[in-house]
Amino acid sequence: MRKVTTFMFPGAVMLVLALVATFARLPADWQGGIRSIYPVVVLVVGLVLGWRFHRSRLLLALLVLVLCDRALAHSAPLAPLSLEARTLQHGIAILLPINLAFLALAAERGIFTLRGFYRLLVIGLQAGALALVHTYADTRTLGGVARALADMPTPVLDLPIVALLAFGTAMAAMLYGFVMRGTATESGFFWAMIIALVGVWPAASDVARSGCLATAGLTLVLSLVEASYGMAFRDELTGLPGRRALQEALIQLTGIYTIAMVDIDHFKKFNDRYGHDIGDQVLKMVAARLARIRGGGKAFRYGGEEFTVLFPSKEIEDAMEQLEGLRKEIGTLDFVIRAAGRPRKRPDKPKPHRRKPTRAHITVSAGAAERNNRNSGPDDVLRAADKALYKAKQQGRNRVCK
Ligand code: GH3
Ligand code: MG
Ligand code: MG
Repeated sequence: MRKVTTFMFPGAVMLVLALVATFARLPADWQGGIRSIYPVVVLVVGLVLGWRFHRSRLLLALLVLVLCDRALAHSAPLAPLSLEARTLQHGIAILLPINLAFLALAAERGIFTLRGFYRLLVIGLQAGALALVHTYADTRTLGGVARALADMPTPVLDLPIVALLAFGTAMAAMLYGFVMRGTATESGFFWAMIIALVGVWPAASDVARSGCLATAGLTLVLSLVEASYGMAFRDELTGLPGRRALQEALIQLTGIYTIAMVDIDHFKKFNDRYGHDIGDQVLKMVAARLARIRGGGKAFRYGGEEFTVLFPSKEIEDAMEQLEGLRKEIGTLDFVIRAAGRPRKRPDKPKPHRRKPTRAHITVSAGAAERNNRNSGPDDVLRAADKALYKAKQQGRNRVCK
């Protein structure tokens, strides 16, 4: 569910806005603003953020979008079906998705580095080459290239088939990247590309073109902010919201609610026995179970091997039932531990006396407390839950106390 939200926001909202700006009849002064002020604001904000956060790919993507916008603005007064206009439009429609996809998939390498300089150079060379073909479209030397570009079949949206293929492939790659890595960057590029597609549509008006290309840029800027926010509020190892997110959630609790602290039993021994890496894997699995807790519970990594679960508007008895279910489920999990040096792949001829993989189990203890007259604020309830957890440990662990 979180993945779907990350994917849809803010790209889908931006797409809707871009479509409204494209197809609604906006008042004349709005149109003027969209054409002249909006792209500049997006560019300035993007440049500042990209520079501050060392996001060269954002800066280069913005450069690509600006170049496309300026070149299409240059082609706008030309006769729509002229060789010059079509050369430029088709060339841009093909190069834009290829460049955005490359930037989305490439590693972040900084802007004032050799790699950053090469990338800048490649973008500049493409722009130069397209400008040459466009300017010398009626000469013998470059006329062939210009006509090949201009006469490409345009099956959908008046866009050349190669551009449609490039957009399709690039978006599929973004989607794949998002499914595999789940970061806001891929989803940002995905939506930016769809929005840019509307912008490079030859029938788009000046306002729609500038508006959409700037909105594509804004989508990338917002996805950077989203990714940074995610980094600050999410725990990297487990993917659960972290301590900072917990603080935010705590102050929003009102009325009746229950808070639980969950702690892995004898985890230090577990680490000592199987190693820290296996310990990390186990933490991740426990976190994955916690993330799926039902009854309206929301899990956070409090720190180390301790987790907090908030149950807004739930009485303690309901919460205890969920926690009890969680405790039982984790207790029955079977962790297969690969012995050190054991190959990950099964060898062709297994050795006769191979050591059997070790199976490990862990248990958790939990303490829960609800808001009442004695514990009236979230911090008091959290402390009471911690006390209840201590009680569970004292009573022998692998249990839920209140
Ligand atoms: P108890 O049942 O009383 O909770 O015993 P415990 O050993 O779980 O508790 P203690 O607080 O003494 O130790 C917690 C251990 O959790 C210490 C540390 O090795 C381990 N731990 C904390 N954070 C991490 C982590 O991110 N990864 C791994 N692998 N281990 C961690
Ligand atoms: Mg512990
Ligand atoms: Mg602990």
